[in-house]
Amino acid sequence: MLILLATVSLKALIDEQYAYAEYLWNELTQPHFHNYLYWLIGISAFVFCLEMILPWRKNQKTFRKDFWLDFFYMFFNIFIFQLIGYKLVASLSQAYFNDFMAMAGLENLLSNRLVALPVIVQLLLLFLFRDFIQWWIHRLLHKSDFLWEFHKVHHSVKEMGFAAHLRFHWMETIVYNTLQFIPLGILGFTLEQYIGIYIISILIGHLNHANIRLPLGPFKYVLNNPQMHIWHHTKGLPNQFQKGCNFGLSLSCWDYIFKTAYIPEEGRDNKLGFKGLEDFPKAFFGQIVYGFLGKKKADQ
Ligand SMILES: [Zn+2]
Ligand SMILES: [Zn+2]
Repeated sequence: MLILLATVSLKALIDEQYAYAEYLWNELTQPHFHNYLYWLIGISAFVFCLEMILPWRKNQKTFRKDFWLDFFYMFFNIFIFQLIGYKLVASLSQAYFNDFMAMAGLENLLSNRLVALPVIVQLLLLFLFRDFIQWWIHRLLHKSDFLWEFHKVHHSVKEMGFAAHLRFHWMETIVYNTLQFIPLGILGFTLEQYIGIYIISILIGHLNHANIRLPLGPFKYVLNNPQMHIWHHTKGLPNQFQKGCNFGLSLSCWDYIFKTAYIPEEGRDNKLGFKGLEDFPKAFFGQIVYGFLGKKKADQ
């Protein structure tokens, strides 16, 4: 039974890879409103213009240190891996969960109630729920010594700019997606809804990393912003934040609720990185293999 299940899952996984390759090809060749690649290009151009018109650090170069490295990461991470597996993981999780509930004589009431809600409410719930899950996953990336070695890629940014948002190791995609697709699938959110929310989160994430100042007034307690996220990247935080602060992705409220918010001042010129950054690989390939070498080897 287990072997049969594994074979069926493997076949579905392979089929999905083919379907995904076809989907990516269509994304490239047929620009349309739901096409996230063109949204990524448009959002990047918009935030890049903001950085040029209203730079926060005026002496930072437009094409800052590692701009092209981050540019490469941006398309590598987003285009190749980001949405892979959503349909499969989400539908399998929902099917297994529904079977499990049926065995207990229950229905997947949550999912049934959710699809009955107006679309805008469904999207809002998806945005909130996804961001909350991601906040926990981000904490995990800092707490786990194993995952931190991969997350260091994102924290190796020395000069902040919008493209730094998507400098991260592809292992992160696997961790984030596995842990978020399962509950989102169980709840019954569709790939199309996911893409819509994902595009909004790209805009917010780009802004958080951009070389701009975004004074949000009281909304800073809800939305993440560059003055908050720069502290997440800051080197030499006080002892109570040795494992990180300001973990929020789109929303800042989770950090205020769980007391992990730390913004002692604006932090425009903070020194960024982590202890030992000098020895961290500077190029893409070195950064990608670093986490696999193991902590001891990598630190030698
Ligand atoms: Zn982090
Ligand atoms: Zn960041």
